[in-house]
Amino acid sequence: MMNWNLLNNLLFTGNYIPHGHCYLWQRELVALHIVSDSIIALAYYSIPLSLIYFLTQGKDLPFRNIFWLFAAFIISCGTTHIMEVWTLWHPVYWVSGSLKMITAAISAYTAFALIPLVPQALTLVSPTQLGMIDRILQQEIIERRKTEARYHTLTEASPMGIFYTDAVGDCLSVNEHWCQISGMASDEALGKGWLQGIHPDDRQRVFAEWYSAAQQKLPFTSEYRFQGNRTQISWVCGQAVGQIGENGEVNYVGTITDITERKQVEEENRLLNETLEHRVAERIAQMEISHHPLPQEIAYRERIAIALLELTQLQNAILNSAHYTIISTDPDGTIKTFNRAAQQLLGYSPEEVVGKVTPAIIHDPLEVGKRAEVLSQELGVKIEPGMEVFFALPRRGIADENEWTYIRKDGSRFPVQLSVTGLFDSNGNITGFLGIGQDISDAVAAATQRKQAEKELRDLTSAMQNAVEGISRLDIEGRYVNVNRAYAHRCGYEPEEMLGMEWQLTVHPGDVEMLICAYQEMLTSGKVEVEARGVRKNGSFFYKQITMVKACDAQGIFNGHHCFMKDITERKLTETALQESEFKYRQIVELAEEGIWVIDSNTLTTYVNHAMARMLGYSELEMFGRSLFDFMDEQEKQQAIDNVDRRKQGVSEKHEFKFKTKEGKDIWTYLSTSPVLDELGNMLSCCALVYNITYRKEAEQQMLQLTEDLKRSNEELEQFAYVASHDLQEPLRAVTSYTQLLAERYQGNLDAKADKYINYIVDGATRMQQLINDLLAYSRLGTRGQQFDMADCNAAVKQSLCNLQIAIAEKKAVITCDAMPTVMADESQLVQLFQNLIANGIKFCREDIPLIQIAARRQEGEWLFCVRDNGIGIDPEYADRIFIIFQRLHSRREYSGTGIGLAMCKRIVERHGGRIWVESQEGKGATFYFTIPIISS
Ligand code: ADP
Repeated sequence: MMNWNLLNNLLFTGNYIPHGHCYLWQRELVALHIVSDSIIALAYYSIPLSLIYFLTQGKDLPFRNIFWLFAAFIISCGTTHIMEVWTLWHPVYWVSGSLKMITAAISAYTAFALIPLVPQALTLVSPTQLGMIDRILQQEIIERRKTEARYHTLTEASPMGIFYTDAVGDCLSVNEHWCQISGMASDEALGKGWLQGIHPDDRQRVFAEWYSAAQQKLPFTSEYRFQGNRTQISWVCGQAVGQIGENGEVNYVGTITDITERKQVEEENRLLNETLEHRVAERIAQMEISHHPLPQEIAYRERIAIALLELTQLQNAILNSAHYTIISTDPDGTIKTFNRAAQQLLGYSPEEVVGKVTPAIIHDPLEVGKRAEVLSQELGVKIEPGMEVFFALPRRGIADENEWTYIRKDGSRFPVQLSVTGLFDSNGNITGFLGIGQDISDAVAAATQRKQAEKELRDLTSAMQNAVEGISRLDIEGRYVNVNRAYAHRCGYEPEEMLGMEWQLTVHPGDVEMLICAYQEMLTSGKVEVEARGVRKNGSFFYKQITMVKACDAQGIFNGHHCFMKDITERKLTETALQESEFKYRQIVELAEEGIWVIDSNTLTTYVNHAMARMLGYSELEMFGRSLFDFMDEQEKQQAIDNVDRRKQGVSEKHEFKFKTKEGKDIWTYLSTSPVLDELGNMLSCCALVYNITYRKEAEQQMLQLTEDLKRSNEELEQFAYVASHDLQEPLRAVTSYTQLLAERYQGNLDAKADKYINYIVDGATRMQQLINDLLAYSRLGTRGQQFDMADCNAAVKQSLCNLQIAIAEKKAVITCDAMPTVMADESQLVQLFQNLIANGIKFCREDIPLIQIAARRQEGEWLFCVRDNGIGIDPEYADRIFIIFQRLHSRREYSGTGIGLAMCKRIVERHGGRIWVESQEGKGATFYFTIPIISS
């Protein structure tokens, strides 16, 4: 019932609109959908057909289930397209939806089932790989076939019988030769058949041997007989080795070689031997019977034979083992034996020399000739150079022993001690000669060496005695056993005096302990070098450098030491002096207040003392290695570079220089620098003494500033005085003129008081005019002064006297003047100077006649002038005051004047670079001195 309802629901079309309605039943569009869906469906249905056919054909196809799933999935896809066509007219959308649902389920399941298969599918061998594997297999098959063919050919062509068996000895195959040798057909040999072909006597043994070899996995080898189906027996040598087959099974491959002939020969030999032995035995038996007394004779002869044999063996042994060349000759000198040592030493084989005459081969003809002469003299018989040289003495029963030179086959030579003796028979006849030669190369070389060594020793001893260096030899107790002249003389002794002396006596007591230590060191190291103080015979000491060398005897046993001594007193004293001087120098340099700075040719600091480092605010270490230029401003650097260049040219200089301290402050220094040059004139280093002049420099600066200020203020003052006095002149002149006019016109017309007042005004105005004139004159001294030139002081004095002639005349003054010099000066001012001083001398006189002396004296760099009077004199208390402008010691009533005269004198003298002063006592006259520097024109 439920199924029926479900079917009804599915086929329910109800009010659904057929799909074609959506296409508005447009014929082309409907046809397009029908055709395309139908083709898709057909295509979908055809694919499963191919798949199913493929599945049924390929039985071992992997992943069969997934192929079935693909088929179901594709069929359901096709069906959904059929439903697309069907629903164009019949809106059974429940059916088409359900079909789509089924398709969806199958496709989803297929997709999920496919996922785990992907890695497996990837491991499948690709067709390309399959192709490669196939090719390799093909190649292998071809190779195997070739090998097999070669093997077969080899087997058949082999002259040996070849067989194969399995592990238990069952024959698998045999070749043609095997059949020929064994006398069996190949099929008869198969299995255990081959054993039957073996001779019954050997069968058991062969089987046992085979079994044993197989058990122990050893190759099988044995000699045995085959009889096969024949009467003829063939001997074979059978061999077999195991082989591991492709499947791991063990097979044997073996060969049999026909050895029948060899076996026959062996058998014949054996038979022959047996026959011989038999015959000998028979013969001996016969001899024993027929010669009964012979055994004694035989025994005697045997003993002699044995003795002879032993002798011959001994002789051979001697000949062959001797280190001497042993050559025997017949009486004519033809060589008969030539032993092994002779062969080795002379390089000839016996075949080359036996039968030849000896001297011609191995002797130097010249040597033989000389010997012949000597022998001829000795024997008084003419001996011809040849064999007779060697045989003359032996022939007379005397062995000839001499040194000879042998010549080898290769032409090289060596010395021999050759002893030639004659060989005599029982009748005393010479049967030959025997020459035994000993190679004395080593002995000769050793003798030469010994002679050389002896000579060297003699030279050495002589050299040692005459050596400039002190050389001595001490024994194990430390006593001198040999002392050369130099050594002894240095110690103040003669060599003989020192022999047996203990070394401590020649050494300063203070150094003994150190030398014992050095001696100990020498014992271990073999050699030691030390410096010590030596003591002379007279007790004075000297410095010496000692080299102690351990000495041993010929057996290498320590037996004292050699001592080599060098007098180093001079060097030592120089060193000490140097050290002291260096110490002093260091002290001075280190403690110096001045800075000391050394730079190398690259301006790098190699040394600064403490004062220098402190001056710049660094430590010595901070400055070390730094460039000179690191301690100054950029502006100073160029000047420093120029300075260094001049140092490099060897110029030493003193100059001021500004450095920069570590804190960045400027510091003024005064440098005295000098370069150190090598012999080629290249600067190695440059050393500077550095004074800190910062304070002086600052004071100078201040002074300059002050001087500048003072100058300016003076100039301003002068200007002011000049302007004031000049500008005051005009109104003052007016006041003076009108006051004089007033006095002239109204003098006497007014009352006495008025007259008195008018006089005061006139006097005051005149006085003021005088003061202003004086001030103007004073100020003009600075501003209107003339250029200096050579001025004759005689003329200046003369002019001043001329100007003062009225006053001189009035006072009847007496004026004397010594010869005056010519000086560098402003002449008009000189006139003024003399005039003021002379005028004062006249003015400040006492009642008597004024006497004035003018003189000049040359002194260090200047002229000293003096103007002396006999006037009222000056209290020394006012000696300075009188030179100040307008300062006077007297009232105008006592002495006229404004007090400008001496101020002007002072100014004039100072303008000329001189000084002015007065020496006086009140009432005792006054002497005015002034100086003018000597300046050449
Ligand atoms: P003045 O002559 O106008 O007084 P000076 O400057 O020449 O001015 O002299 C200053 C003062 O020095 C004088 O007033 C006088 O007191 C003193 N004096 C100058 N010369 C002499 C002299 N030769 N003897 C004594 N006193 C002198």
